[in-house]
Amino acid sequence: MTARILVVDDIPANVKLLEARLLAEYFEVLTAENGYQCLDICNKVPVDVILLDVMMPGIDGFEVCERLKANPKTAHIPVVMVTALDQSADRVRGLKAGADDFLTKPVNDMQLMARVKSLVRLKMLSDELRLRAETARNIGLDFGHMGMQGHAEEPASVLLVDGRANSQERISRTLKPVAEITSLSDPQAAVFEAAEGSFDLIIVNSNFDDYDPLRLCSQLRSIERSRFIPILLVVDQGGEPMVVRALELGVNDYILRPIEPNELLVRCLTQIRRKRFNDQLRQSVQQTIELAVTDSLTGLNNRRYLDKHLKMLFDRAVARGRPLSICITDIDRFKFVNDTHGHDAGDEVLREFANRVRSTVRGADLACRYGGEEFVVVMPDTTPETAAAVAERLRAVVEMNPFRLPQAGRTINITASLGISSTVWGAESPEQLMKQADRALYDAKHGGRNRVAAAAA
Ligand code: GH3
Ligand code: MG
Ligand code: MG
Repeated sequence: MTARILVVDDIPANVKLLEARLLAEYFEVLTAENGYQCLDICNKVPVDVILLDVMMPGIDGFEVCERLKANPKTAHIPVVMVTALDQSADRVRGLKAGADDFLTKPVNDMQLMARVKSLVRLKMLSDELRLRAETARNIGLDFGHMGMQGHAEEPASVLLVDGRANSQERISRTLKPVAEITSLSDPQAAVFEAAEGSFDLIIVNSNFDDYDPLRLCSQLRSIERSRFIPILLVVDQGGEPMVVRALELGVNDYILRPIEPNELLVRCLTQIRRKRFNDQLRQSVQQTIELAVTDSLTGLNNRRYLDKHLKMLFDRAVARGRPLSICITDIDRFKFVNDTHGHDAGDEVLREFANRVRSTVRGADLACRYGGEEFVVVMPDTTPETAAAVAERLRAVVEMNPFRLPQAGRTINITASLGISSTVWGAESPEQLMKQADRALYDAKHGGRNRVAAAAA
């Protein structure tokens, strides 16, 4: 894992120290001696993590952080505040300014590495997701608002795993304004709860009498359903070794006892926001994939999807020795519809036609818009006789009821021709299967249209 770390401190000796440690771990290091330089560098080159001193002449670390977080170009860069004193007030102020983490001078080596590595990992993930979302936007897919900070407005759902009733109560009280809390004292029960529910954050208080809190964290990380839920670990003062191992396991953040309520609140909100941001991105990636394989006019799958999926269905049918049949349907004299009633009316007919296809085929069948006014239905586990019956039903459903043209305020009669083919007739590839169905369709057209034809056995 390599990454570019920017070290910002007005005292050259401090910069040198951090730089040497980071270089020893093969990070690329940039340095700045004041806030303005820091902002300038971040505007010009991509930075993965910023180690930011608080006390600096000119603009201090808090303000630098605020400015970074207010700029869409730099808002996603994790900022670690390096504070001289381990003062809770400073931490809270930093978190409010949008800082992602803290280190206290003199900086502990293990902590520095664990924190930086954990933030870099997280940054890589969200960079990847942002990139994909960006691509989606560039090709004209709009996912509406995708705020950099995610949505932290709705109450979050937090799972609190805490061995003691009194600290459960204190933590719950602190988080009550922003979250609905499920409290459990049994770590094993918590693993099940995490897998069942949909939590935005899991807080693990390392105060169990006879259970290793890191075991719980590692279980939460290994289970699919809880893998992406941030974990905040509560540890005793002096519990740094546990923290280092926890961060390596993928725990996202920690807080030291005695818990300062403001710090707990803001740390939780930071994690919840990040979780929601990443969920949004993941969802947008999912949508990109769906849109890429969907025909926008009819909502049916498109040709790209058919080409890929038909191959899979074909191979599976062959492997299992089951019949697979397909039907290509083409609207008759569709050009005439466009020429007479206009292109919009033509689109209306295509939409309605797609609806009729959808409602005629079974759930297991795959209906696609192949292009123009051609549609393909793929029917797994279907003999050509059954496929012919389905095709005939579709033909009838199209012919029977005239199509409405809402804008023109009238209806028109539509018919379609259909060609079917089946693996039982010896097609050796999906392409051949399609070709046979296409030939059958040609026969149907030439036989007078508004009919079903089958590829010769
Ligand atoms: P045939 O009975 O032989 O199939 O005659 P046809 O007129 O249906 O066939 P042809 O392939 O000559 O014309 C298809 C028409 O479909 C031409 C094209 O402009 C129109 N078309 C293709 N895609 C769309 C679309 O998305 N919207 C609309 N409105 N028309 C489309
Ligand atoms: Mg046609
Ligand atoms: Mg055509």
